[in-house]
Amino acid sequence: MPQPDFLQPTDLFPPRHIGPSDDDIRDMLAVAGMPSLDYLCDVTVPQNIQLRRPLDLPPQQGEQAVLGELKRIAAQNLVYRSLIGMGYYHCITPGVIQRNILENPGWYTQYTPYQAEIAQGRLEALVNFQTMVGDLTGLPLANASLLDEGTAAAEAMAMCLAIARSRGEERKEFFVSQDCHPQTLAVLQTRAEPLGITIRSGPNTSIKFSEKTLCGLLLQYPTSDGYVGDVSGLVTQAHEAGTLVVVATDLLALTLLRSPGEFGADIAVGSSQRFGVPMGFGGPHAAFLTTKEEFKRQIPGRIVGVSKDAAGNTAYRLSLQTREQHIRREKATSNICTAQVLLAVMAAMYAVYHGPDGLRRIAQRVHGLTLMLAEGLRRLGFDVGPELFFDTLRVRAPKNQVDLIRVRANERRINLRTHEDGSLGLSLDEASTVHEIGTLLELFAGQNRLPFQIMDLADSIKPGYPNPLARTSTYLTHAIFNRYHSEHEMLRYLHRLQGKDLSLTHSMIPLGSCTMKLNATAEMLPVTWPEFAHLHPFAPSEQTQGYQELFRQLESWLAEITGFAAISLQPNAGSQGEYAGLMAIRAYHHGHGALHRDVCLIPVSAHGTNPASAAMVGMTVVAVACDKQGNVDLTDLEAKAVQYRDQLSALMLTYPSTHGVFEADVRRICQIIHTHGGLVYMDGANMNAQVGLCRPGDIGADVCHLNLHKTFCIPHGGGGPGIGPIGVARHLAPYLPGHPVTGLGTRESIGPVSAAPYGSAGILPISWVYIALMGRDGLKKATEVAILNANYMAKRLEKHYSILYTGATGHVAHEFILDLRPFKETSGVEAMDVAKRLMDYGFHAPTVSFPVAGTLMIEPTESEAKAELDRFCDAMIAIRAEIQDIADGRQPRTNNVLKNAPHTAAAVTATDWNRPYTREQAAFPTPSVRANKFWPAVSRIDEAYGDRHLICTCPPMDSYQP
Ligand SMILES: *Cc1c(COP(=O)(O)O)cnc(C)c1O
Repeated sequence: MPQPDFLQPTDLFPPRHIGPSDDDIRDMLAVAGMPSLDYLCDVTVPQNIQLRRPLDLPPQQGEQAVLGELKRIAAQNLVYRSLIGMGYYHCITPGVIQRNILENPGWYTQYTPYQAEIAQGRLEALVNFQTMVGDLTGLPLANASLLDEGTAAAEAMAMCLAIARSRGEERKEFFVSQDCHPQTLAVLQTRAEPLGITIRSGPNTSIKFSEKTLCGLLLQYPTSDGYVGDVSGLVTQAHEAGTLVVVATDLLALTLLRSPGEFGADIAVGSSQRFGVPMGFGGPHAAFLTTKEEFKRQIPGRIVGVSKDAAGNTAYRLSLQTREQHIRREKATSNICTAQVLLAVMAAMYAVYHGPDGLRRIAQRVHGLTLMLAEGLRRLGFDVGPELFFDTLRVRAPKNQVDLIRVRANERRINLRTHEDGSLGLSLDEASTVHEIGTLLELFAGQNRLPFQIMDLADSIKPGYPNPLARTSTYLTHAIFNRYHSEHEMLRYLHRLQGKDLSLTHSMIPLGSCTMKLNATAEMLPVTWPEFAHLHPFAPSEQTQGYQELFRQLESWLAEITGFAAISLQPNAGSQGEYAGLMAIRAYHHGHGALHRDVCLIPVSAHGTNPASAAMVGMTVVAVACDKQGNVDLTDLEAKAVQYRDQLSALMLTYPSTHGVFEADVRRICQIIHTHGGLVYMDGANMNAQVGLCRPGDIGADVCHLNLHKTFCIPHGGGGPGIGPIGVARHLAPYLPGHPVTGLGTRESIGPVSAAPYGSAGILPISWVYIALMGRDGLKKATEVAILNANYMAKRLEKHYSILYTGATGHVAHEFILDLRPFKETSGVEAMDVAKRLMDYGFHAPTVSFPVAGTLMIEPTESEAKAELDRFCDAMIAIRAEIQDIADGRQPRTNNVLKNAPHTAAAVTATDWNRPYTREQAAFPTPSVRANKFWPAVSRIDEAYGDRHLICTCPPMDSYQP
């Protein structure tokens, strides 16, 4: 019996998530010339792939019920004090940062800062990040940012290989010190093998420099078990042998220790997690990579640089030459796209808030407490070694004693690390206290009465380091790190930056392929629940039962949604999902004796990460043509499949295509590949058009990644975090990524692709809540409305612009492409001019020039209400009229409202105004803009200037202008 209506929960979510009301939907269907949503989807999605049954998912539930259920799950996570270390530390997130960045949609709903004029806030924050990691590591050039410490080390290894090659040397070995974190070694092993790199690992004394086969070596400083030593001699030896030195390091320790740059390291990597970012059971956290100026061509990831705007003012933007390595396609050595922007912003702000003195005090306190603990342990008769350390100790004791200590630690809800030889490790952190030292000493003493006074320990220690280990150079002397130490000043700084950035709190961000949908508050709330935020990724499994239950449910839901047998939640972004999926395909072929299968077919329309990922797994990329409708050219596909039938490994296919079309022949495409011995990798970035309507697994894909930060509501955070889980068919399930520290995976597993077993576990609750709130019917309706919204906009705009591709029935999928190329000739207007002009109307541009140069790709998503779609269409139509004014000669081809866009408040209020259009046309082109104006912070940015004068750090103290 269905419940009577009045008993239905009043907080059901689909009507909150889906923008258009049922009345709007009716009106929009009429505009699109469609009788119903079902009918629209029936004619849009090819008949032979339609699911035609409801997804086997729970029904929708109200927000209160879902959060209540999640609380029950969260309560099964036990928040112990984790002193395990290994790159993950408890830290204190300043409230002003937690509430105003991490929990603030003005920051977390921003898009990647490609449109720099409306992204100056986060770009400044990222320059702060680059300056911070560059200063602390003593290496001037930094990126912002990488996905975790393990993959950052892997990126550094790829750099070493590339640098050796650029010097004309083929060096295919890489040494990893046995002092590195075990998960870093494991990620390096995964990444090395397909590149043909041999990893050597052992004590530093075992390095064989004389053979000149090492492209690089990786040291951990301080070591994973806590030791701090002088490695400058080793660095000199390496350099004499032509080997580069990578140092994995700890930012907090570097406030007291000589920096890697100062002892000659070529590259430094690490995680900025302990700068105010919760552990989150492994992530997300921003990793960093810094290097010398001379390697700027090889650095992976995004680098923010300084340039000038049209008015001559300083302005930040992503520097082109190094930006987005994956755009170099199969020549790329990295596939990083989505990074960890929000977390990099948090870490940078932590440094801004504490400043150099505050950071040093935190480090001194942690170090001093560690020395006290060591002294106490020595007095209790334990062997902690005579060595120097920062915050981590390794305690050797007989096994029976160790077992007792572990039992007592467990009783006091404290996690320690156990080394392979049975010794105990413990890492103190910002949250440690004198009281905690007492507790720890009691564990080791086995009694509550210590034979000494704790405070006596403080008197008998000597903090600091001898030369040459002590840090003597200054750091973070820039104004920005020395200004905002009162909370009021900090609050206002954060809000000042936020005010420069357009986010989903202002207007729709119709980014094709990026699915900028609602990131609902109910989805975000659990992220900072302590039960999710404060778990260490290597905490014992008895303490992480809540997470385990959440993973199991989410995996089963995603498996049902995609039609696959198994899911891995480990990859930290779509690009990493591609990597993991291709590695699984590779392992499958190898497992079946087909070592020679290494050709990857990729349509020319593919996203740049596809060929970059294929190159990273050692595949040879062969491009497949697209026809005039934007579909994969079947004749070319078949010809290539036949030509390479003995080497064919995989096809990478985006579906619906990056042209926004459900290709009717997709089943046939998969068949062709299977017939010739290959497997099909589906890039699931466009899954928002499939959920509930069709499934990659049914279509014929063998593996598919999802972007949880696109389809499943994790916010983009200004360019990360993201999660890129993969779904695989049964025959690939054994190969899903494993993890050596927790024993995840099977014997056939490819190694880990992320440092943590479940990647960015801390934000998985977002997608869990989304699916639970929407239920099977809500999810399907979301897809249908996403398709309707796109078709409605396409209908409204087709009278003014030409739509580049439509499906066999004249419909688009969930996104569509406007062709602006004809305007170049008629008016001199280019896609970028329209993108910049949209800022004057208060909108973020759609995707510019991908997948086709000179076009805009629009994806509205289901979350945008009809009123917002109309506002955007009205702006595009008004801009079309402005283009016509130029074409008809009413406005000049150069000095016009499009070429001069965006218009800042400074420009339109200047005393001089000598432009052939009014100030009102410039800044308030429609009444709705006047009612709600978003001012771009700077004028059009000169891209070339910034690339010619690459500056990636904050201005020094005296030249700073607020
Ligand atoms: C976003 C996207 C990717 C890459 O995903 P990231 O999470 O940014 O690494 C790959 N392919 C397509 C089509 C995409 O839109």
